[in-house]
Amino acid sequence: MDNSRIYLSLGVQSGFEKEYISKALEDNWITSGGPNVDNFESKLQNYLGENLFVTALNSGTSAIHLALILLGVKKGDEVICQTMTFSASANPILYQGATPIFVDSESETWNICPNTLEIAIKDRLKKGKKPKAIIAVHLYGNPYKVDEIHSIADRYQIPIVEDSAEALGSTYKGKKCGTFGSLGVLSFNGNKIITTSSGGALISNSKEYKERAIFYSTQSKDNEVHYQHSAIGYNYRMSNICAGVGLGQMKILDENVIKRTENHNFYKEIFKDINVVELFEVLNKHSFSSYWLNTILINTEDPHKNKESLRLTLETKNIESRPLWKPMHLQPIFEKYPYYGSTVAENLFKKGLCLPSGSNLSIEDKKRIKEVITVFFKT
Ligand SMILES: *Cc1c(COP(=O)(O)O)cnc(C)c1O
Repeated sequence: MDNSRIYLSLGVQSGFEKEYISKALEDNWITSGGPNVDNFESKLQNYLGENLFVTALNSGTSAIHLALILLGVKKGDEVICQTMTFSASANPILYQGATPIFVDSESETWNICPNTLEIAIKDRLKKGKKPKAIIAVHLYGNPYKVDEIHSIADRYQIPIVEDSAEALGSTYKGKKCGTFGSLGVLSFNGNKIITTSSGGALISNSKEYKERAIFYSTQSKDNEVHYQHSAIGYNYRMSNICAGVGLGQMKILDENVIKRTENHNFYKEIFKDINVVELFEVLNKHSFSSYWLNTILINTEDPHKNKESLRLTLETKNIESRPLWKPMHLQPIFEKYPYYGSTVAENLFKKGLCLPSGSNLSIEDKKRIKEVITVFFKT
């Protein structure tokens, strides 16, 4: 049997990537910005919905950073952030010299908990500071409680940065994830649902935000003949070559979402009779998950049957799996900042594992995965 490595989340190519890149090379458009970038942005705008402005950038992290800059986050400000996430959601708060305030998850979507969020906001207000922004994340492709979270944010008039890096293709009440926040963020890193090799995008419904995002991401050049700068600039714009990859990838975005849904159904079948394992499922009928990654919780005290033991067993068969994100408030770099909540995120981290969920998983790959998991829980 083939023993080649099965990765956690690899993509596939449509075949059109090469054409867009070749054209850029032929035209000598090898720089940041350019026709592929404009075209990629307009394809994304069409995909996401009406009246949206998309700015293509060189990473999702840059997009989050620019979102905070556009919302005026400065040194000494406070920014609320979902604790259960990848560090890239929170790092830009520190880039701005602001203070992250971490908030626990709820157990239905694993995302930021509305009740705890409100407690955090009230307490920060009592302490004399109104948070400048809330970073909410659609973890693993699963929409957070959009209505609840946004109604709280609206009540206190705090803008939301919607980290949709893992949720391109997911929807809430029929609307695409990434389009709910004051600013939305996408990532096109190599392991995401589509890739530009490295890349990201900022989404908003304001033309002004887009113009300012382009301004900051291209070194904040003032409108002068010479190079003049009255604001700090960043080199964050997407390159014309990367956007060529993105244009090729847009052709298979819908297919990828279908493939990931099929992966989910594959795991549903495997785990339906394994009682100690809880496969994460979206239960809210308003939410559609792309299931960017399939995740499980293993409810056992048995050290031979826990998530680490399953991970190591999969590894012996050259199959990659990975613990869930370690919550930010437990990270050495972030543990000194305020945290609101209890142990929901911490328990997810203790019990949870991400399973191979790439758009490239073959029938053979699935056979190998199924074999290992079934034997692991049988013996
Ligand atoms: C991948 C990811 C990012 C960062 O995107 P990059 O393109 O890798 O910079 C941000 N937030 C979350 C939740 C992510 O998974």
